Amino acid sequence: MASHDERVLGLIPYDGALTISDLVRDSGLSRPTVTGVLGRLHAAGAVEETVVAPAGLGRPAKRWRRPPRHGTFGVIALSRDAVRVRVVVGDDRHAAERERRLDVSLDAQGALVHGHRFLRECLTELGAPADGLSRVVLGLPCPVGGPEGDHPRVRGILPDWIGIRPAESLRALLPGTAIVMENDANLGALGELEQGAGRGGTDLVYIKLAPGLGAALILGRRRLHRGAAGLAGEIGHVQINPMGHPCACGARGCLATEIPLDPWHEPPASAEPFPAGDPAADRVLHRLGALLGEQLGALANLLDPGRVIVSTDTTPPPPVLLDGIRDGIRRTALPVVSDLPVVASPLGIRAELIGGIALARSGDATPSRTGDQRTST
Ligand SMILES: [Zn+2]
Repeated sequence: MASHDERVLGLIPYDGALTISDLVRDSGLSRPTVTGVLGRLHAAGAVEETVVAPAGLGRPAKRWRRPPRHGTFGVIALSRDAVRVRVVVGDDRHAAERERRLDVSLDAQGALVHGHRFLRECLTELGAPADGLSRVVLGLPCPVGGPEGDHPRVRGILPDWIGIRPAESLRALLPGTAIVMENDANLGALGELEQGAGRGGTDLVYIKLAPGLGAALILGRRRLHRGAAGLAGEIGHVQINPMGHPCACGARGCLATEIPLDPWHEPPASAEPFPAGDPAADRVLHRLGALLGEQLGALANLLDPGRVIVSTDTTPPPPVLLDGIRDGIRRTALPVVSDLPVVASPLGIRAELIGGIALARSGDATPSRTGDQRTST
């Protein structure tokens, strides 16, 4: 594909459609060039035209979008504490899901076995053939990248997964199905872009605050920024206290070890450490948010994002936590970016399932990422 064609196609989002004027502005190419590119992409079946009625007065606008892919797509979204699976046949109206709590960080084989079993169960529920999956995305709570784009970077993050080759294991179980691995927070960000707080936005920072601590960056309208080694977004390992607690990554005082992430996520049976409205609990949550916000303020100075989306598992993030994040940002960001909007994720952990299906359906992956070339993990 010619570079202009790639550039224009790359601007068309997963979840929406753009006018030719949008594409001219965002690509920096001339209108005749963009018109020519769209003609070629349309002839190749890579884009299609759609007419969108305006919200108010005015003429309906012609827009360009990616045609929906046909097929059966699946996602196995592994969090540290659960296996979640979603399978979609055709469009989102025919979908099935499964979920099971499991200590994924300590049980790699169990996570993969359950993920595979749930895919099969979903296919049966949907009346789809057992070998009918076109592409499956495997979400992992660790960076995914490397020179081949196909390596889970578990060292220092998921020590019990060292030596496990999740993509190869799944390929053996699902012959003929392309397997794409992706970081869990990246899937969450794509889900928010598709159906949540990222719709219509550009330059997003997505924060997954529980379980675990991760971040993802969407640059421009749709481009997930994975980084050279797939490590982009590992905000949990920013050091905030050189004398702090030791971290699994080998450093001390990482953000993930210095802020108590789990109290409201999995409160001990004996106590409710963060009851709503308790002033002491609110102070802790505010402080926790501020520590994170200070790092986001530095990030805002570097990247100037359009908004921050905060996700905390299935429950909406407590408002006092979001206030703490905003205060932290104001402390470290330049005045012009200090009012960066911080919004709650409406999807919670389900964003990873939605983002996983969007990624599977988009085919937005290099051949090695999809496993079509049988690269090793
Ligand atoms: Zn660390």
